[in-house]
Amino acid sequence: MVMSAAASSPYLLPIRDLVGKPGQSRAFDLDLTAPAELGVRLVGVPEGDPVHVSGLAESVHEGILVSGEAAATAVGECGRCLGAVEIPLEVEFQELFAYSVGEAFDFCIEDDCVDLEQVIRDAVVLALPFQPVCREDCPGLCPECGARLADDPAHSHGQRIDPRWSALDQVRFETE
Ligand SMILES: [Zn+2]
Ligand SMILES: [Zn+2]
Repeated sequence: MVMSAAASSPYLLPIRDLVGKPGQSRAFDLDLTAPAELGVRLVGVPEGDPVHVSGLAESVHEGILVSGEAAATAVGECGRCLGAVEIPLEVEFQELFAYSVGEAFDFCIEDDCVDLEQVIRDAVVLALPFQPVCREDCPGLCPECGARLADDPAHSHGQRIDPRWSALDQVRFETE
C-alpha cells in the first residue's frame, strides 16, 4: 500500500471500514496537538498544545457524516489591558465528507480518510471571541499613563502625588 504525503497528518481519520455501509457508525477519540495558526490575530491555541477530539463517524448514502467535539485552551491578550487571557474551548462540529466532490459538499473522502483539521479549525475560530478580555469588567489601561487599572483601582491624575509614593516616583524618572 502506498501512503500519500497527506496520510502523515494526525487529523486524518481512517474510515475505510465504513465506506459503502450506510447505517454503520464508529466512535473515535483522539489526543491531538494544535496545528500552526489555530486561531485569529489576538487569540488562538498555541501550536503543539493538546487538542482532544471525540465523536462519531457515521456511514450515510452520500459519504461519511462526522460529528463531535474538540476541546483545547486558547491563549491571547486582553483587548483592554493587554494582560494574558486563557479561554477553555469546547466546540462542536459536524460535517459530511462526500464520496465525490459536488456543488453541495465542501469536503470529500480521500484515500479512505476524512481530514478533520479544517473542520476543527473552522469550529475553533468561530468560538473565539473577536475581542478577548481577561474578565468582563476589565477596566483596561489608564488613558493618561498606561497603568493597568485592575492593579490600581484608586488610580487617578490631577492630584498631588501622595508623599508616600514620591520616592518611587523619583526612581521611575531616573530610569527614563
Ligand atoms: Zn484585561
Ligand atoms: Zn494613570
